[in-house]
Amino acid sequence: MAPVTAPADTMTRHEWAAEVRRLARERDAVILAHNYQRPEIQDVADHTGDSLALSRLAASVEASTIVFCGVHFMAETAKILSPEKTVLLPEPEAGCSLADTITADDVRAWRAEHPDAVVVAYVNTTAAVKAETDICCTSSNAADVIRSIPEDREILFLPDQFLGAHVKRVTGRDNIHVWMGECHVHAGIDGATLRERVAAEPGAELYVHPECGCATSALYLVGSGAVPQERVKVLSTGGMLSAAESTTAGKVLIATETGMLHQLRAANSTTVFEPVNPRAECHYMKMITAEKLLGALRAGTTEITVDAATASKARRSVERMVEIGSPSRGGE
Ligand code: SF4
Repeated sequence: MAPVTAPADTMTRHEWAAEVRRLARERDAVILAHNYQRPEIQDVADHTGDSLALSRLAASVEASTIVFCGVHFMAETAKILSPEKTVLLPEPEAGCSLADTITADDVRAWRAEHPDAVVVAYVNTTAAVKAETDICCTSSNAADVIRSIPEDREILFLPDQFLGAHVKRVTGRDNIHVWMGECHVHAGIDGATLRERVAAEPGAELYVHPECGCATSALYLVGSGAVPQERVKVLSTGGMLSAAESTTAGKVLIATETGMLHQLRAANSTTVFEPVNPRAECHYMKMITAEKLLGALRAGTTEITVDAATASKARRSVERMVEIGSPSRGGE
C-alpha cells in the first residue's frame, strides 16, 4: 500500500491508520472529518460529514476529546456545543476566507444602523461573530430560518452574498440586507464555468451541495436559471450520497469543493463523477495532513478554546440552527 502524505517516510497508509486509531483509543478521542478533507483523513475518521452533521455529533458523542479535521470555525462550533469536551484542531491555521470577511465589530456596527433587525449568520463565521447574532443557519435551512422570522422584521444576513441572494429570492422578502462576503474557492465555480461544463456534457446530471456554504455561488446560479433546472439536483450530503448510489447517469458533474468526490466515487463505481471546476479546492481544508493528524493525537494539540461569555452568547444562535436544520446522512 502506498505511503500517505508523509507521516513518516517509512510508514504505509495501513500502518499510519492503525497508529491513528490506537492513539485515538488511548486518548478517548473521536475523529470527525469534514467532507472536504483529504481522502486518507476521511477514511480514518470515525465520522465524515458536513458542518451541521458534525456539530450534532460533537454535541452527542461520548468521547471526552474531539479531534476535528476541518477548519477553525467548525472546531469552535464543536467547542460551543460541547464546552466540557477537549476539542483539538490538528492545524490551527486552517481558517476560512468566508468567515474572515466579517468581524464582531462589523456586526455591532451594522446592527447599530438597523437596531430592530434580526441578525442571521451563516455557520461559516467565527465564535465572536456568532455571539453577536440572533440565529445561525446552514445553506439547507437558511430559507426556513428566514421564514421563522416575522415578515415585518428587517433581517441582516451574513456573511455570504450568494446564499443571501438565494434566500431573498426563494422567500420573496425584500427586507433582507446582505453582507457582501464570499468564499474564494467557490467564487471559482462561476456562471461561465457552469454553463460551459453543462453544455459540454448534455447527458450529465449536476449535483449542487446546499449545506456547505462552499456551494453557495453555484446554488445562486442554479436558482437564477443560469443552468437548466431539470438536470440539476440540489442535494444535501446525505441526498448526494443516496443519489450517487442509485443514479443511472453515465456522468454526474459536482459543483462543490473537490473533496466530496472521494465519497461519491466510493458509493458508485460505474458512474463517472467529475468536478465542475477541478481547481475548486480549499487549501485550508487540505492543511490537515496525515502527519498533522498523527502529531495532534500524539501531543494533544492544538486545543481550541472559546471564552465562556462568547460561547454562552454564541450557543443560543447555534442551538437555534441545530433545531431548525434537518439531519444529513453524511456522518450520522
Ligand atoms: S471552501 Fe470556502 S467556505 Fe469552505 S472552508 Fe474553505 S474557504 Fe471556507
